[in-house]
Amino acid sequence: MKRMAFYGGSFDPLHNGHLAIARKLVELFALEEFVFIPAFHAPHKKNKQPTSAFHRFAMISLAINSEPKIKISTVELDAPEKPFTFETQTKLTCELTDTAIFFVIGADSWQEINTWREWEKVLTLTNIIVVTRPDFEIGFSHVTEKIREKIVDLRTGNQDAKSDSRFTIHDSRIYITDAVFLDVSATEIRRKIRAGEDDWREPVPNEVAKYIEKYELYV
Ligand code: ATP
Repeated sequence: MKRMAFYGGSFDPLHNGHLAIARKLVELFALEEFVFIPAFHAPHKKNKQPTSAFHRFAMISLAINSEPKIKISTVELDAPEKPFTFETQTKLTCELTDTAIFFVIGADSWQEINTWREWEKVLTLTNIIVVTRPDFEIGFSHVTEKIREKIVDLRTGNQDAKSDSRFTIHDSRIYITDAVFLDVSATEIRRKIRAGEDDWREPVPNEVAKYIEKYELYV
């Protein structure tokens, strides 16, 4: 059975944290494909005004062009109504019937997952991979017992999820991994650019940094 991961977010801009997650999860979960899904806007981040979807799409494309297994999808950008995550998951599970689907979120998203629209559906429609992030705890008290039963904690040394016996095609799991632990944030990158701080490029893929400069984004 084919394994694919989907990673939604604003990617405003895509940074090395996002890219490290893609590369590492391809390896750990033996994925055929890892797909970035730029959001039209993040429905749960109501007060944010993201950069044009065209720019965000272009930046991801530039960063992954030489990575055969890492792709980008327009599934949310093409949707007539800005979809919520559970709607995208439903669409993908209907279309990819022969595929084990994993949705990827960071620890900060996990902590506020119960504020997402239909959050229990989000956590049961597909497998979930939660990736650790500096400054964000991974707690479990905000989810129900039924959800907690789905958790497979890979943080205890055995990072190899390829042969995890708890993986099953019949029921979804929530995997927690600390295989990536990078202190990078898009908000901080935007703040540094606006403030004229030169070291903003460090956590940004080279091609993305060139694009940001060329189109004078975030100034
Ligand atoms: P912002 O700082 O504006 O919130 P971000 O850096 O979190 O942006 P998003 O596009 O919002 O970037 O992130 C998409 C997804 O990636 C979210 O689920 C987020 O939790 C996760 N993520 C982003 N950066 C990291 C990181 N360094 N480590 C782990 N997860 C991350």
